[in-house]
Amino acid sequence: MKEIYLDNAATTRVYPEVAEYMSRIMLKDYGNPSSLHMKGVDAEKHVKKAKTTLAGLLKCDEKELIFTSGATESNNMALTGGAYANCRAGRHIIMSSVEHPSVSACGKFLAEQGFEVSYLPVDHKGRVMTDRLKEMIRDDTVIVSVMAVNNETGTMQPLEDIVKTVKSANEKTLIHADGVQAFTKTMIYPKKMGLDMFSVSSHKFHGPKGVGLLWIRDKVKVRPLILGGGQQKDMRSGTENVPGIAGMALAAEMAFSDHDEKTEALYRLRKYFISKALDMEGVHVNGGMGRGSFCLSEDPEMCAAPHIVSLSFDDIRAEVLLHALEDRGIYVSSGSACSSNHPAKSSVLAAMKVPAQFMDATIRFSFSFDTEEEQIEACLSALSELLPVLRRYTPGGRKHV
Ligand code: PMP
Repeated sequence: MKEIYLDNAATTRVYPEVAEYMSRIMLKDYGNPSSLHMKGVDAEKHVKKAKTTLAGLLKCDEKELIFTSGATESNNMALTGGAYANCRAGRHIIMSSVEHPSVSACGKFLAEQGFEVSYLPVDHKGRVMTDRLKEMIRDDTVIVSVMAVNNETGTMQPLEDIVKTVKSANEKTLIHADGVQAFTKTMIYPKKMGLDMFSVSSHKFHGPKGVGLLWIRDKVKVRPLILGGGQQKDMRSGTENVPGIAGMALAAEMAFSDHDEKTEALYRLRKYFISKALDMEGVHVNGGMGRGSFCLSEDPEMCAAPHIVSLSFDDIRAEVLLHALEDRGIYVSSGSACSSNHPAKSSVLAAMKVPAQFMDATIRFSFSFDTEEEQIEACLSALSELLPVLRRYTPGGRKHV
């Protein structure tokens, strides 16, 4: 049975070139980049090269990049490190109501520490309400955090409008965006866009797990979370994950080659998948249908990133469908993979006011630039066979036969 992996928003397969490159570094250039001898210098060269590559792709300065253990750490550093470093200016934080737990948990933590946290509501497509944001900004608002692309629905947030709204209300307020699902899937240049902090995770774009970065605009103050040997100019102690950092940079570079063509192809695939899925009975799409941008569009349907589709099904339990697809070698996710540790209802779908009956009936299909048309076809034909069969066994469900 051929494997059809459609859970790329959870993680991706490492590119073979990346794995080979990392393996070479681990076996040959295994020195500590802080060591003064040649082995250290050789290792340090890989870190420097990765920094140059990533700064080029993000169009930022090399000195603005901090390597981390992944986006959970980057988000924690941006929120808690940013809040503590700037708490003299105020103790009010705003975040959207659809943030990843690595941001929302920081909100809870900061609230316990005496900060005040406000949650920005979203519309039924999952886009933040920028007019509400305008009313929420105060003189003591230190950070606004809104993710670029939602990991459960693929909804793109109007970051350009958010920047204008925030900075015109309080130019000192810092804006952080969790860029995990956006970087490499969309053209996003955080510095040019006017953001102050931006989080990236390597394993979402065919790089290794356990490595990411936080871009912090020059002169923005953030308190380090990890203290120790003073690596990365005291901003993030700990021996750098040299193979991971190098692998992340190579994976990003590979993702950006022929980027326009690959993005076009992915949007075409997504559109085809959605239109065929909607031809089936009792299938609904959460979030936007068509290509989005980081500006609010007149058409609420036009807010989608190219790689994520969230579908809700009448009279189907997501977990049952997930395992029925798995039996056919098709791997998907129910809601968000990250929430399987806490199998509560999706707070993202709840914030979007998705009807209660779909809370347990939603599947996320997520693609990568490697996803092929045949894989999409195989998934669609599995769905069309499985849905009527599974509905027969759904207690109290309508019988679509
Ligand atoms: N933010 C978003 C939007 C994510 O999708 C994820 C990963 N599921 C993270 C943050 C956390 O990233 P990491 O796995 O690198 O800690």
